[in-house]
Amino acid sequence: LVSREFHPANSIIRIGDQEIGGNKVHVMAGPCAVESREQILETAHAVREAGATFLRGGAFKPRTSPYSFQGLEEEGLRYLAEAREKTGLLVITEVIDARDVSLVADYADVLQIGARNMQNFILLKEAAKCGKPVLLKRGPSATLEEWMMAAEYLMDGGNYQVMFCERGIRTFESYTRNTLDLSMVPALHTLSHLPVIIDPSHGTGKWHLVPPMAKAALAAGADGLIVEVHPHPEKAVSDGKQSLTPEKFKVMMDDLARLTSVL
Ligand code: PEP
Ligand code: MN
Repeated sequence: LVSREFHPANSIIRIGDQEIGGNKVHVMAGPCAVESREQILETAHAVREAGATFLRGGAFKPRTSPYSFQGLEEEGLRYLAEAREKTGLLVITEVIDARDVSLVADYADVLQIGARNMQNFILLKEAAKCGKPVLLKRGPSATLEEWMMAAEYLMDGGNYQVMFCERGIRTFESYTRNTLDLSMVPALHTLSHLPVIIDPSHGTGKWHLVPPMAKAALAAGADGLIVEVHPHPEKAVSDGKQSLTPEKFKVMMDDLARLTSVL
């Protein structure tokens, strides 16, 4: 179902009044984690002003250490919904547990399935039934074929609104947090009809590498970007080092706008 043989034309994912997979490149932006009402509202207004169409922010966080902040859970989802009401941005947020799929789907416009859960088949089957589009991140050591098979679970379960998201894979390189595999954009566009989103934040782990890799992603043909933005990255509870300030995000968006008018 995921393959282009099954569906030769590009799939367009319709979310609210937006379309992903068509001519417009979408930028999803916001903090790694929803930390407070003020933090998410401030970020939402800033990224909307800069041209983002989706607000990202995790309310359920999959953390490497059990002692790290695990997320505000439903309280965080409520803040995201309030930010949508106030800004008109659509909301994308991660679901990490099959038991929370319907709760997250009640608040979110798009469900994010994180890298660590790419092959959580129970979660995929549940997300297939949620009635909302799903952004499926690539597992840190998943092959293209494994990733496409994970998307197949969603489509086989009845959800045809699926997007791929490349967020970097684990390699021997340690300067960057992950190695952003931009070749997946044309590879997926060849093999599949589904849109491809690039996450240069997790893909590099360093904020100064985010704008150049975002530009490279668009040059490679990505249908959208998902970027971490925090009003005070140095105080962020997670992923501050890879988060852009709203000011830096605005500069990047202006650069991207110039690039897309050239392409
Ligand atoms: C995130 O988007 O904050 C996140 C946890 O991403 P990933 O699943 O790619 O690590
Ligand atoms: Mn993050």
